[in-house]
Parts: sequence; structure tokens; C-alpha cells
Amino acid sequence: MNLDEKIFYAADATDNIAFLTEQLFTWQTSSWQMAAANYNGLHKTLVRTLEIGGIHFAIQFNPERIRSAAAKVDAKSISERKCFLCPHNLPSEQQGIPTGDDFFILVNPYPIFPKHLTISKLQHTNQMIAQNIGTMLDISAVLTDYVVLYNGPKCGASAPDHLHFQAGSKGFLPVEKEFEEMKSRLLMHRYKSVEISFAVNYLRRMITLQSNSKNDLLEIFAKIYSLLAALQPQEPEPMLNIICYADKNAWIMHIFPRIKHRPVQYDRGQLLISPASVEMGGVFITPRSEDFEKITEEDIINIFDQITTGEIEFEKIITEINNL
Ligand SMILES: [Zn+2]
Repeated sequence: MNLDEKIFYAADATDNIAFLTEQLFTWQTSSWQMAAANYNGLHKTLVRTLEIGGIHFAIQFNPERIRSAAAKVDAKSISERKCFLCPHNLPSEQQGIPTGDDFFILVNPYPIFPKHLTISKLQHTNQMIAQNIGTMLDISAVLTDYVVLYNGPKCGASAPDHLHFQAGSKGFLPVEKEFEEMKSRLLMHRYKSVEISFAVNYLRRMITLQSNSKNDLLEIFAKIYSLLAALQPQEPEPMLNIICYADKNAWIMHIFPRIKHRPVQYDRGQLLISPASVEMGGVFITPRSEDFEKITEEDIINIFDQITTGEIEFEKIITEINNL
């Protein structure tokens, strides 16, 4: 395959990537029948809301997401399937915009968000964040109408073998608004220009970094990454999800340390929910209608209890960060 056929527009540094991305979105959702059908279908998606002690969740019934929620991500299954993020395996209708550091902006044809992008590396290389957090900040700074998501290889990524981010419309995940509302009540620490806050009573544990300095963010992220990595030496990277977004003044980055890939309800076939950044952000995706109907507040509390870093470990992390 000639990569040129997959390029919607060969942008350079002077181009307005945000504008081009909107053009790509319009093009793909009109010219690509499956993407058009799935985005139209999203308007009719069933959504329930739940509230647990003032914390808000949306439950979205989304059968198309079965691919991701039930993706087999063990080494054998991965080695036996064609990688769906490699450019030569993309559907013939799909095109993208190459951007800095060899990433490729694509429209996700199985959306959760009103606008949902996949931003994947052009080359087939493992999902890992340490060397790519700068790219995540850069993408967030360019696509300011979107939140950018990272799912660790054992934290919801359906292609753990191919480096990628996702991006979705701002204003969709409850965590964005809830962070603003609770920020003044959170434990705080400062590292250079970075405000660090810790959410301990948010059902899941969350570390938030806020700053207008990319360098300071990279520095503190590397330190936090090392602290988390020391707790999980057996893993290729500490288990985590990240949600990052920016306006013209600053970045906000929410880091969710994890200890488990999928909850026991998944293994037992009781609830087909594979928690990823979207769930950590407050939207639970249920590909099966039975799960959409039956999931309760208790299930959400229980799932977070299983997958999120425990209270005592988190207290230790806070103490270590406060000593930085
Ligand atoms: Zn690949």
C-alpha cells in the first residue's frame, strides 16, 4: 500500500491542524458509509445517569464498542491478528492527517464521543507512555476542542501493540466539570509551576497536574511515573489511564493509577465492562443491553474498588510526591 493514498492532507508546521481535523471529520462522516451510520446512530444511543454521593456517571449503551470492550489482548491473540491501527490495514475509506512525531490523526469509526478521534503512531510500536507524554501534551494543545486519552496496555487499550491516543469532544466526560467544582477542596501540592491535586474521595484515585509549562509537566510526570513504576516492578509500565486537555492558558492532566485490568464481573461474564479512560472520566460503556439495564451504583463502586490503586498505597504516593 502507498501511504499517500491514506493521507487526507499532508499538513506541515504552518497548517492549522485543528481546522484540518474538523475537515477530516466532516469528510469521513459523509463519504464513509459505516462511519456515517455509526455517528448518526450515536444520536439515538441510550444513556442513563447515576449519581453516587454527588459524583456523576453516565451509562452509555453502545453495541459497536464490543470490539474494544471484549478485545483479546493476550500476547497470543495479538500475535495472531492483523493490527487494525497499522496504516496498511485501515479500511479503504479511512484517511488521516499525519502530524508531528509520525502520528496519524484518524476519525474513530466506533464513536463514544460526538466527535471521536484515534491518533496513532504511523509505525507499529508498543503502547507506552514514558517517551510519548510530550506528544500527548502537544496534541492537547493543538486540538483544544478535545480531551486526549491514553489507555495503558493493560488498562483498556484494545491495541496494546500499537501506540495510540484517542481524543473526544470536550464537555462530555463528567470529570472535566467535577474537577473544577472540587478543585478547591482537594489536597494540593506545588512543583515549580505545576499545581498537583489529589482526589482521594472520588471513588477512583486521581492525580491532577495543571500548568502552562510543558517542561515542568514533563519533569513532574517523569517523577510520578517512577514512583508508580516502583510499585509495579513486574509491569512494563505502571498501570494507568490519562485524560489530558488544554486551553490557551494551561494544560490539565488527570492521571488514574490502576492495579487491575478488568474487574471480576468481566471474567465471570456478569458485566461486560472493560474500564478505560472514558470510564475513569465518568462514562461507563456497556456494549450489551442487559448490562446497560442492570448496572447499579454498587457495581460502579465495586469496579473502582477493584481496579484503582488502594487507599494506603495512594497515601504513600501522595507523601512521596509531596516530598519532591
Ligand atoms: Zn500496528
